[in-house]
Amino acid sequence: MQRLTRQRNAVFSAFSDAGRVLTAPQILEHARAIVPEISLSTVYRQVSLLLADGEIAKVELPGEPARYEVACKTDSHDHPSHEAGEGGQAGHHHHYFHCSHCGQVFLLHACPGPMHDLAPKGFQVTHHEVTLHGLCAACVEAGAKAPKAHPPH
Ligand SMILES: [Zn+2]
Ligand SMILES: [Zn+2]
Ligand SMILES: [Zn+2]
Repeated sequence: MQRLTRQRNAVFSAFSDAGRVLTAPQILEHARAIVPEISLSTVYRQVSLLLADGEIAKVELPGEPARYEVACKTDSHDHPSHEAGEGGQAGHHHHYFHCSHCGQVFLLHACPGPMHDLAPKGFQVTHHEVTLHGLCAACVEAGAKAPKAHPPH
């Protein structure tokens, strides 16, 4: 039991930096610094337990491996609250910044708000996903150049 707690803490502590959104291998890398014998399958097991407990949430971006973030506790920080109307996504949700240089994904606690106006007349918006692309601060500092692969939409 104590061993399990140690593994769980090692997995959970990978998220200790605010705004981290991690793949299972990235979690493993961090957890190994604390519990050297931890394996990827243990990480997956702990991740599914943490998911079931609502401690972390799954992040799925198109064409990307599954990532995980710490579930937002509504009283822990400022939350952009959603106006009623965009049903199914009441309350707080997240958007993401995907760095095209290092590939890391960062959590954005901001939301542009309901987007009814973008939908054609008569359509009902149930939810939206917003992902920003570009260079993270560390990559900008390192002098990385934004790739031109993604045409502007
Ligand atoms: Zn980056
Ligand atoms: Zn949040
Ligand atoms: Zn939003």
